[in-house]
Amino acid sequence: MSDVATLSHPISALKGVGPALSEKLARLGVSVVADLLFHLPHRYQDRTHITPIGHLRSGREAVIEGEVTASEVVVGRRRSLLVRMKDDTGIVSLRFFHFGQAQTSQFARGIRVRCFGEARAGSTGLELYHPEYQLVGRHDAPIEEQLTPIYPTTEGLPQPRLRALMGQALEIFDTTPSALPDLIPAPLRSRFALPALHDALHYIHRPPPEAPLEQLIEGTHPMVSRLALEEMLAHQLSLRQVRRRIQQDAAPALGSGASLNARFLAGLPFALTSAQHRVLNEINGDLQRALPMLRLVQGDVGSGKTVVAAMAMLGAVAHGYQAALMAPTELLAEQHYRTLKQWFEPLGLTVDWLAGRLKGKSRLDAKARLADGTAHVAVGTHALFQEDVAFHRLGLAVIDEQHRFGVHQRLALREKGEAVGITPHQLVMTATPIPRTLAMSAYADLDVSVIDELPPGRTPVKTVVVPDERRNEIIDRIENACAEGRQAYWVCTLIEESDALQSQAAESTLERLTEHLPGLAIGLVHGRMKAADKAAVMAAFKDGELDLLVATTVIEVGVDVPNASLMIIENPERLGLAQLHQLRGRVGRGSVESFCVLLYHPPLSGSARERLGVMRDTNDGFRIAEKDLELRGPGEVLGTRQTGLIGMKVADLTRDRGLLDSVRACADAVVDNETVSEALIQRWVGREANRYGQV
Ligand code: ADP
Ligand code: MG
Repeated sequence: MSDVATLSHPISALKGVGPALSEKLARLGVSVVADLLFHLPHRYQDRTHITPIGHLRSGREAVIEGEVTASEVVVGRRRSLLVRMKDDTGIVSLRFFHFGQAQTSQFARGIRVRCFGEARAGSTGLELYHPEYQLVGRHDAPIEEQLTPIYPTTEGLPQPRLRALMGQALEIFDTTPSALPDLIPAPLRSRFALPALHDALHYIHRPPPEAPLEQLIEGTHPMVSRLALEEMLAHQLSLRQVRRRIQQDAAPALGSGASLNARFLAGLPFALTSAQHRVLNEINGDLQRALPMLRLVQGDVGSGKTVVAAMAMLGAVAHGYQAALMAPTELLAEQHYRTLKQWFEPLGLTVDWLAGRLKGKSRLDAKARLADGTAHVAVGTHALFQEDVAFHRLGLAVIDEQHRFGVHQRLALREKGEAVGITPHQLVMTATPIPRTLAMSAYADLDVSVIDELPPGRTPVKTVVVPDERRNEIIDRIENACAEGRQAYWVCTLIEESDALQSQAAESTLERLTEHLPGLAIGLVHGRMKAADKAAVMAAFKDGELDLLVATTVIEVGVDVPNASLMIIENPERLGLAQLHQLRGRVGRGSVESFCVLLYHPPLSGSARERLGVMRDTNDGFRIAEKDLELRGPGEVLGTRQTGLIGMKVADLTRDRGLLDSVRACADAVVDNETVSEALIQRWVGREANRYGQV
């Protein structure tokens, strides 16, 4: 065996790397030598030229060189070693708070010193605190030829050490470049003007002195973009691979279920919008093929996704299959259950319900009905897809509010049809309008339909931003609205995601409001209540028995009470835009004008002010989502469960959105090349791909 390290060797193959250092590097995500090359600097220092001392500026880092004129230990507030040095242009001081005897005697008068550090205004004029330095002879040692990278690091791993390791890795890369091949085929590289991988990595780790630092640091430099593009490509390919695996299975070919649909539509109190029709046609097109549908329906809050899902479900039922609808919360599942029962029972269909709180005999009975096919339609939470639940012939699974579920949960569905050798069609619905950038990166495995039209007769919600000093005024407003027969929500928020605290806050708000509004029937829902109690309160609110509903953010998703036209959100500054938009979507569902009051607690931070301003100025979910993405970044926007998927090393979906068209084109071009795709996925997505792909 040769003892020459290669790029694929464990990092311990490098000179001077023992178990302790390996462990530190592992913390940085570096386990083999090649990983080092993808550990990119987060900033740079310019040590490529010597700055005349007279040109030093406070706050700037620079290399200077000069002659020591004096050095002394001064005892001020803190003992320090002060070294004065000069060149032809000026004088400056070096100051050391930690120093030893050797250092003190080193700085003899007339000695030449070169140092690097940040100049700051001190008591003797400009001073460099603890600069890096070296003594130099008359014949100068060369200064750095390239910009000096500064890497993200971890405790006990100083920059020079990391830089030296990087040097070793780059050397190995130079001698065996084929060990880290350029996976983007040459024709694509020239078509999109992408630099070669080797050039990009070299440039980023060892930029020439004239390199535009700003661009490098911000990641907009073509050499960085090249890596970002490759990473996004890998993620996209990984999702497409997931899709391909699912679509290797057979799905039932379902027609449109025309007669059931006609009867259903006849009973519906409204006509579908043309956007709903269009999306339904897209869905039906998928359902008629014997390949599992993988479709995402995006539609702003209130755009009417439920009825579209219901009609797709009828298609499955009409062909002798079962359909299931999964919602992220029991509250929403319960509501869907009520809606579907009301719609489907007149058609002679059996709708069943399964959630965590269903226990004992009723649970067994429900499971039995799903298993023997008595239940045509099942509604529930993720309880529906637990191991002990079996379907007779599941043909279609609808997942509402997709952003709450991870990819793996979606993939778990695949198993539910295994017994009968079919994979159910999947319809995923989301009201979080996912900006195109994210949709492409996080949902490349799904086809996308958009309901881009609200049902007619809706008046946009008017939003006002009000400081909580005016709380009483707002309470009067509730009284007036309810006197006119309207209903209202009062939403309590807390920073802590703690159910207990949120619920407490809601309870005390209820007390206060009950005191102020003795004439109103006020209800309360929060996360700490038993599911059955929550459901009962929601039902009472929906039936108009309650005027005002005090709630925590449990009502965020999906709740549909068209007569509610006023919503007060307390401390909205604590919430993200997407969440505010979701909440606000609970009103504005009927034909009367609705209001949303954002009752904030002053003073507002700059970013909170900006967010509330966005809410006031627009009702457009897509614009809000774009803004959210800009303000909070993709991880937050998609929800924590999915950050694994888009946890990218180099790419930033906001910054690099401009690359998406190229990414897609590249993906189209290499998707059929198994070797290249696989290598790209391994390089950038690694183990995660396996996790998602093999469910
Ligand atoms: P979301 O897309 O947010 O899930 P829902 O499906 O809950 O929206 O629909 C919101 C409300 O709009 C519901 O009360 C629903 O019955 C109603 N609705 C849906 N489609 C139409 C339509 N075409 N015309 C009128 N009202 C509709
Ligand atoms: Mg909905």
